[in-house]
Amino acid sequence: MVNLILFGPPGSGKGTQAKKLVEKYGLLHISTGDLFRYEMGNDTPLGKKAKSFIEKGELVPDEVTIGMLRNKVEANPEVPGYIFDGFPRTIAQSQVLDELMNEKNTSISTLLMLEVPDVEIINRILERGKTSGRADDLDENIIQNRIDVYKNETTPVFDYYEAQQKADKIDGVGSIEEIFDRLSTKVEERM
Ligand code: AMP
Repeated sequence: MVNLILFGPPGSGKGTQAKKLVEKYGLLHISTGDLFRYEMGNDTPLGKKAKSFIEKGELVPDEVTIGMLRNKVEANPEVPGYIFDGFPRTIAQSQVLDELMNEKNTSISTLLMLEVPDVEIINRILERGKTSGRADDLDENIIQNRIDVYKNETTPVFDYYEAQQKADKIDGVGSIEEIFDRLSTKVEERM
């Protein structure tokens, strides 16, 4: 199996690149942001719990997020590998993910971080907000909060996987194809 974590700030292109990686390598894409939006769209109890955090650009508490992620992985056992997008975002989530992979006799192959400067991120998200239907993409204060949360709470995840010699940085500025080529090269090094 090859199990990837696509990492990087909001608006760094993780979702776009994940879709292309799915086409090329046949992996299962798991985006916790997409899972939350599905739950909110259906007004489920989980969606209701997540909504107030997402609207502020805060992290949804680990106990909610981890249970949802575990269910999704366990519901899809027969896949050639996973692409985790937007997860893990805390050290606790990273530890659970490693345990979950271990239970399946596999492990995280690599974490790839897309690096994009703040100004470009804000512009990309505001542009996406015109069509994404996401309230958290429309308000510059919420976007800034998401960036701050990424820097303060999520970047330790990079160090966690770097200590396992699994983390790599990729220049996330350029055309979609250029960035995809950079990612593919790194993925194939780990296959
Ligand atoms: P995303 O689509 O990945 O930008 O996620 C949108 C929002 O969902 C984030 O701003 C968080 O509020 C929430 N979220 C997504 N993934 C996670 C996670 N792994 N841990 C906590 N909150 C998350």
